[in-house]
Amino acid sequence: MPIADKMVKMVESASMIRKMFEEGARLGEKYGADNVFNFSLGNPDVPPPAVVKETLLELINNESTSHGYMSNPGYPHVRQAVADYLNQEFNVGLTQDLVVMTVGAAGALNDTLRVLLNPGEDILVPAPYFVGYNQYAFVASANLKTAPTLLDFHLDLNAIKANITKNTRVMLINSPNNPTGVVYTKEELIGLGKVLEEASQKFGKRIYLVSDEPYRKIVYGVEVPSVFDVYPHTIMITSYSKELSLAGERIGYLAIHPKAEDAAMIAGAAGVTNTMMYVNAPALFQQVVGQLQGVTVDIDIYKRRRDIFCEGLFAAGYEFDVPEGAFYLFPKSPIENDLEFVGLLNEQNILAVPGTGFGGPGFFRLSYAVPEKTITGSFDGFKKAFDNAK
Ligand code: PLP
Repeated sequence: MPIADKMVKMVESASMIRKMFEEGARLGEKYGADNVFNFSLGNPDVPPPAVVKETLLELINNESTSHGYMSNPGYPHVRQAVADYLNQEFNVGLTQDLVVMTVGAAGALNDTLRVLLNPGEDILVPAPYFVGYNQYAFVASANLKTAPTLLDFHLDLNAIKANITKNTRVMLINSPNNPTGVVYTKEELIGLGKVLEEASQKFGKRIYLVSDEPYRKIVYGVEVPSVFDVYPHTIMITSYSKELSLAGERIGYLAIHPKAEDAAMIAGAAGVTNTMMYVNAPALFQQVVGQLQGVTVDIDIYKRRRDIFCEGLFAAGYEFDVPEGAFYLFPKSPIENDLEFVGLLNEQNILAVPGTGFGGPGFFRLSYAVPEKTITGSFDGFKKAFDNAK
């Protein structure tokens, strides 16, 4: 093998995702893009707000805009803008030295996990979970362990308690959730904080909460409660990939609760892991987002799609809870084998992702980061696949 043995498995799972991209393109070429219903990708298609382009143009035309290296955690004025915004939102007393600008949420997760985990330690995540976590755990030489969620995909605190061991260093949560769209409530987060504190005491080892929140602003009639309020040993991670539709520009950050054990040391180390991987987050887009704290894409577009999609799928017989956030539906597969059912959807030119890939067998994920006509055009196919499955 010309590549490292440990890479072989990772390449195989990455190639599954690549195959899905290729299948979408192949079907599009064969049947015409309008006749293919690709719900497999979480790539935001709602345009960024106009102010993004305006800010970008202003910065490009401004002689004093910087394009050089900066301190590895990012421009101080941008980190200050983020800290000010988070203080306004959460009243947590953040200072800019506890904010590290990163290459998207993925960069922030990679930084944080490599900083916190010794090789062979465990990250505990509620399942189903975002597939990227397998890769980030791999990079950190850590083990990804799962705790099942309740039937409605909310946190099962007893299961979390039962799955924490002396080897657990990080509890990783994601709300609004990819793939389920669930938004955790304040009460369950308070409960989680208690479980983590008790377990840290029991095992004589600080367990950190890492909260991955790139969909924080994509919610429908609810707010995402602050994790900073429920447990001080928390690192909050987010990006502008979804809330400003800037996924390809690779810009995000991590923010460490000022009262987290060894907060300053964690921030310093995250700056160093930045250096090791990509030196710093993109200069131009740091300066863009520094000016656009609190700005979001038009969430109503996603809400409208969610409502239309839910109505059509319920009418076709599918079972699921209407999600409160993100831009995914996670319906129950009409047959036990979700991979087989995704095959039946493919026969209708519908692309979906089997829940098995997210540690959620028996379900499948649909992304509605697609035009409305893709959603409405797919309902016949969904009905036929449902009927064919019975
Ligand atoms: N975390 C979750 C739950 C995601 O869904 C994604 C991307 O889809 C990421 C992290 C990575 O986000 P980014 O593109 O900002 O790196």
